[in-house]
Formats: sequence, structure tokens, C-alpha cells
Amino acid sequence: MEMSKQVKIGGSVYRIEQVGNLNDDERVLFGHLNEWKKLIQINSDPCEQTQAQTLVHEIVHAMSNEYALEFNETTTERMASAVYAFIKENDWVILAIKKAGT
Ligand SMILES: [Zn+2]
Repeated sequence: MEMSKQVKIGGSVYRIEQVGNLNDDERVLFGHLNEWKKLIQINSDPCEQTQAQTLVHEIVHAMSNEYALEFNETTTERMASAVYAFIKENDWVILAIKKAGT
């Protein structure tokens, strides 16, 4: 899937990189968030749906850091699933928010 090159989360801009065979030398990773580099890497090998779900997962990790939410991995998983499903089923809300401005 074609992803934009960056997302703004809190006060930071995170660069998004799609990488084939993303891994940490021990296991294959679906995605990875590098807070130091403000970089989100998404493994480009899985299907588009998995990549999109992974992107939301890494974004929730970044939100947790940016907003000091202190989500653990389980909370991140659950929040990412909820956010993904909500956006998928209610894209009109996103459009309404954008139309409402800041
Ligand atoms: Zn995670």
C-alpha cells in the first residue's frame, strides 16, 4: 500500500518508511517505532490490511509516548484495534473534524 511519508503526532513529525524483510536480527517485525529518530518502519511484505493495522499500532505507540499515556503493549494492541476499526467504519467523522478546522 502507498503510505504518506510522514505523520504529525503531538509536537513531533514522524517519518514513515516501508521496509521489506523488517527484522531485529532475531525475528521478523510487522513494524517498529524509533523514538530517537522519530521514525516509523512498516514491513512491506504482509498484505495491505496488515500494513495499515501495523501503521495504526505504531502510531498509538507514538501517541502513548508523545502524550505520556504510558500504554503497555497490551493496551497499545487494544487501542490500535479500536482506533483502526473506528476509522474504517466511520470515515465521515475524520472528514467532519477536518472540516471543523482547529
Ligand atoms: Zn507494539
